[in-house]
Order: sequence, then structure tokens, then C-alpha cells
Amino acid sequence: MRAAVLREIRQPLSLEEWPDPDCPTDGVVCRVLASGICRSDWHAWEGGDPVPMPHIPGHEYCGESWPWGATSRAGPWATG
Ligand SMILES: [Zn+2]
Repeated sequence: MRAAVLREIRQPLSLEEWPDPDCPTDGVVCRVLASGICRSDWHAWEGGDPVPMPHIPGHEYCGESWPWGATSRAGPWATG
């Protein structure tokens, strides 16, 4: 997958290729189609809200749930 990654506080995000995540049995993997960067992400970027590094901002997104785990009750669409 491609991700915009924060590696250092107050530095530009870097576009990187990351391995696709594994799908947990009771969860889903969401293929993100669009994402916003909000003020919480900005607080993380400027160091006011500490996050583990590297950090992928953009928790406000929409996308397609695929695949989903055997015991997950998810449908084909999700928001986060
Ligand atoms: Zn937010």
C-alpha cells in the first residue's frame, strides 16, 4: 500500500510503499479511497499530541472493506 508517513515532528510527510496489513479474524482491512488530514493530525505533526513514529495520519477516511475476517460482521463499506 502507499502511505503518507510522518517520520519526524514538523517535517514534510514522505510518500512510501508499505506492506499490505494482514486481516484479523474478527476485523477488516479497509482499502482507503479518500482521507482528510484534520487538526488532530496537525497536532501530531507539530508535536503537541505525541504519537509513535513512524506515524500515518488521516484517521478520517472512507473506503472499501476488503477483505474481512471470518467472524467479522462488517459489510463491504466502512468509514473511520
Ligand atoms: Zn480528526
